[in-house]
Amino acid sequence: MTRTIDTVGRAARHDMLIRVECGHCRHVGHLRARDVARVVGQGRSIDTLRFVCSRCNARAAKALPMEYDRDRPPKVMIWVPMEFRR
Ligand SMILES: [Zn+2]
Repeated sequence: MTRTIDTVGRAARHDMLIRVECGHCRHVGHLRARDVARVVGQGRSIDTLRFVCSRCNARAAKALPMEYDRDRPPKVMIWVPMEFRR
């Protein structure tokens, strides 16, 4: 994880994942950065992303870029991007 990955577009270029943790129930999910970029745009800061938890419907507190390990991809993409403000 590195500080230089600050926007969705940058993470998408490196084919990274966005790791999202629910601030309410601690449910963790992962999204492909390029899928997120398609929704919110390349220039969107990862810090400002908000997701809805698929378990408790709370708004997730934290989104962080993460390396995508092709040999061990996460099993499911469980997070649903909510309406994004640009
Ligand atoms: Zn939750």
